[in-house]
Amino acid sequence: MATLPMLAPGSSDSETKPNGKGTGTLLNPGDGNRDAGQAKAAKPGGGTSNGINYHGGPVMLGTINVYYIWYGNWSGDTATSILTDLASSIGGSPYFHINTSYYDGAANHVTGLVQYKTYANDNYSLGTTLSDANIQTIVANAIGSGALPYDSNGAYFVLTSQDVAESSGFCTKYCGWHTYGTISGTNIKYAFVGNASRCPTACEAQTTSPNGNAGADAMASVIAHELEEMTTDPNLNAWYDTRGYENADKCAWTFGTVSTASNGSLYNMLLGTRQFLIQRNWVNASGGYCALSY
Ligand SMILES: [Zn+2]
Repeated sequence: MATLPMLAPGSSDSETKPNGKGTGTLLNPGDGNRDAGQAKAAKPGGGTSNGINYHGGPVMLGTINVYYIWYGNWSGDTATSILTDLASSIGGSPYFHINTSYYDGAANHVTGLVQYKTYANDNYSLGTTLSDANIQTIVANAIGSGALPYDSNGAYFVLTSQDVAESSGFCTKYCGWHTYGTISGTNIKYAFVGNASRCPTACEAQTTSPNGNAGADAMASVIAHELEEMTTDPNLNAWYDTRGYENADKCAWTFGTVSTASNGSLYNMLLGTRQFLIQRNWVNASGGYCALSY
C-alpha cells in the first residue's frame, strides 16, 4: 500500500513536546510521540495559522552537512550507494525546499541546502542490541576517533544493519528517530535509522522498491523524514504542533502522487539519477499542507 491516511490535525489545548521519535511505523504511525510526550501549556504568541508552531529554539541554517555511520555489517549491500546518493542529491531539491518555509526568531529561513560529507564504519563496537544512549556513544566514538569531524551544523546518522536491534522500540514504535546531545562541548545533532528489512511490515511501504533494495529504499524515506526534522527542530524546541508532531510527522507514511517504476514498484520523486518513494513533508505556508515539493 502506497498511501496511508494523513494524521488528523491536533485539537488538544495542551501541548506535547517532541521526543524525536514521531516517525512511528506503518502499523502505529506517530505512536512515538504519543507514548512519551510531556504536557505543556501553549506559549502565547507562539502560534501560526499553518498548523505548526514555533517555540523559540534554533533551526539549522546554511548548508547542512550529512555524515553516515554504517554500524554492523553492510558489506555487499547496495544500501551504501543508494543512501549516499540520497544524501548527495536531496539538498536543493524541490522536496527539501519545503523546509525553507521554516525560520528562527530572527526570521532567518532554512536554506534547503544539504551536503553529503563522509562516513565512518563501526564493526559492532557495542554489540547487536543498542540502547538510545549507545547511539550517542557510537556518534561520539566516530568523532572522538577522528573518523568524523566535530560539526555543529552536521546531521549524523547511525545506520544499523538488519541483525541489529534498538531496544527502545525500533520496529514497534518507530523506524527512526532524531535528537541532539553535547559531545565534547559541541551540540551534535544525530539520528538513528535501522535497516527496514528487519521488520518490513512495520517499516517498509513496499517490498519491491525502485532501487531493488527494499530495506535501503525504506530507509531513504525515514532518513529524509529525520533530516527535515533535524533541520527545523534540531534541539526539539523549535517547530512542532500541539501534539508534539514535528513537520515530517504531520505527513508520515503519506506519499502523494506516485508513479510506477520499471520493476513495478512505486516512486514519487527523482533525486539525482534515482527514483525514490519518500514520505511527504509539511509546508509551513498557505495554512499548512503535506507536499512533495515547494
Ligand atoms: Zn518524526
